[in-house]
Amino acid sequence: MNPEPLTVVVAAFNEEAALPQLHARVSAVFADMPDVTGRILYVDDGSSDATWACIETLARQDPRVSALRLSRNFGKEAALTAGLDQVSVGAAMILDADCQDPPELIPAFVARWREGYDNVYGTRLAREGESWTKRATAGMFYRIIGRMSPTPIPADTGDFRLLSPRALQALRELRERHRFMKGLFSWVGYNRIAVPYQRHARVAGTSKFSLWRLWNFALEGITSFTTVPLRAATYLGMLTAAGAFLFAVGVVVKASLYGDRVAGWPTMMAVILFLGGVQLIALGLIGEYLGRLYEESKQRPLYLLDTCIGPSVADSNLQPTLGGQADDHGSAGVGRQVS
Ligand code: UDP
Ligand code: MG
Repeated sequence: MNPEPLTVVVAAFNEEAALPQLHARVSAVFADMPDVTGRILYVDDGSSDATWACIETLARQDPRVSALRLSRNFGKEAALTAGLDQVSVGAAMILDADCQDPPELIPAFVARWREGYDNVYGTRLAREGESWTKRATAGMFYRIIGRMSPTPIPADTGDFRLLSPRALQALRELRERHRFMKGLFSWVGYNRIAVPYQRHARVAGTSKFSLWRLWNFALEGITSFTTVPLRAATYLGMLTAAGAFLFAVGVVVKASLYGDRVAGWPTMMAVILFLGGVQLIALGLIGEYLGRLYEESKQRPLYLLDTCIGPSVADSNLQPTLGGQADDHGSAGVGRQVS
């Protein structure tokens, strides 16, 4: 069997402590896989530590390494998009820089790909080294989005996955600014299969996702993949209107039977405050969607490239957007798809 190209794409944000270990582990795995031509593409998502210097050192030592440096921190989803945009041949395997997605499982993913699967995703059996709040909120999030989203989004599944060339091609068609990658991967469809794995604690450094960031991430996921909250607001409005109507009938009947003695200030306040609250929630919901629509309408690039290193980047069909550089150290470019 001819060796097929496989690019491991790693988004890294302040991961100087973890990258050397990750690289060593991925290299060891490649050494045992004669059936693929392994490459590693690091995307430095605007790190403020020595991550880029570390990537440059790795690239000097290992010709299989290529790298992108984004112009600032765009977030993991944009960094992954930048990386996947560059994979013009073969399949791509997404790993976290902190070794939480064990590189030793790559052969299991490749085996599934060889069987004809396009989207081979890792499903976490256990999550070590993560607080119970994170586990509980993550569990809740997957349940909620699973119920609401018309695109089925597998539970306990992160970005750890292998994508076949046609799945990658399809993914490149999706250029929305608000990117909930897990949802986009599922939206693409094709043949999917899970690979269960134990998720270990990160090997070095600290998590980049605070509880607040995770909350925003969850909002992103829900608003990108379902409009159920908008509909729920409509139903809530109908329910309160129906309740208000019944209440009004009661008030009129009571007033005509017993007369109106100008009482009921507490009830009035309760109703006004309740309705005010419901209206504000509904407005806020509309605002969430409207804000995202506004962001989309600006049509800004998903990310900007600062520097590029390496063969797969320079060879890629995206070269024109990378400023047309032919040398190893490229210059600026923008994250736009070239068809
Ligand atoms: N990451 C990134 N940009 C960011 C935040 C995170 O590229 O703005 C990368 C990070 O370097 C790591 C991966 O995304 O490789 C997952 O991040 P982290 O381990 O902090 O998340 P957790 O595993 O705690 O959910
Ligand atoms: Mg992690």
